[in-house]
Amino acid sequence: MSDCIFCKIVAGEIPSKKIYEDDDIICFHDIHPAASVHVLVVPKKHFSSLNELDDPELAGKLFLVVPKIAKMLGVDGAYRTVVNTGKGAGQSVAHIHLHILGGPRIGMPE
Ligand code: 5GP
Ligand code: ZN
Repeated sequence: MSDCIFCKIVAGEIPSKKIYEDDDIICFHDIHPAASVHVLVVPKKHFSSLNELDDPELAGKLFLVVPKIAKMLGVDGAYRTVVNTGKGAGQSVAHIHLHILGGPRIGMPE
């Protein structure tokens, strides 16, 4: 999708702090972290949201890469995985992505 910010990150047209990449998926740091570790797991293929995701193999890969990335970031003992679907639920980028959040929340009491 030409006007999609995450497609542009996948294509290297917008810079990102990338921490993982394979044939199907990239993972990079969220630009506005809500926790001391906050990264986004993004399929290279564009799907607007979880409602449009129709590839079981890719869905499996997206989930199975999460613990590997959590381990790379040293938060595999305690982290949250979040998928917002729809503007009303807080989805601001219409390209499916999983948030991985670990460590203390930023701006929240521990
Ligand atoms: P959503 O609100 O759709 O669940 O999550 C989108 C996330 O993408 C937000 O946490 C936001 O901070 C992050 N984000 C938006 N634009 C960019 C960008 O250009 N680069 C990076 N690294 N993150 C972005
Ligand atoms: Zn996209």
